[in-house]
Amino acid sequence: MPAYDPNNIFAKILRGEFPCHKVYEDEHVLAFLDIMPRAPGHTLVIPKVPARNILDVTPDGYAHVARGAHKIAAAAMKAFHADGITVQQFNEAAGGQVVFHLHMHVMPRHDGIALLPPASRKEDIEVLEDNATKLIAALG
Ligand code: 5GP
Repeated sequence: MPAYDPNNIFAKILRGEFPCHKVYEDEHVLAFLDIMPRAPGHTLVIPKVPARNILDVTPDGYAHVARGAHKIAAAAMKAFHADGITVQQFNEAAGGQVVFHLHMHVMPRHDGIALLPPASRKEDIEVLEDNATKLIAALG
């Protein structure tokens, strides 16, 4: 497996070199909206440690990301009046991974509405701002 690349886009977001719509942060994780959401409120939870994916992180490091996703899932149900949540996490290109800093996708779902295909379209900034505000409010 290749080494972790500190210039990947999520590493830049963590260092504040690239903007994001942050919804949650603690000492272990950062959560922000996906710029090309597959559903409204699609959020990414990433660890603060440099890790490519599940194959490159300690069990505890992975558990911190899962805890973050658990917190976001509960808030997203409220914020988006969702009927369900899809959590996904891809590992290496063969596993569907595109950005090589570990991340969990948390996607609010509504009955009968399919996910958009990955990377369909960049969401409008105003919509992302509005969705971040809703999620932050629900996180309390
Ligand atoms: P994966 O690596 O799990 O296949 O997906 C990477 C995810 O990162 C995609 O859902 C994509 O839309 C998202 N993404 C790619 N570039 C950026 C970015 O610059 N900012 C944000 N917020 N999300 C991004």
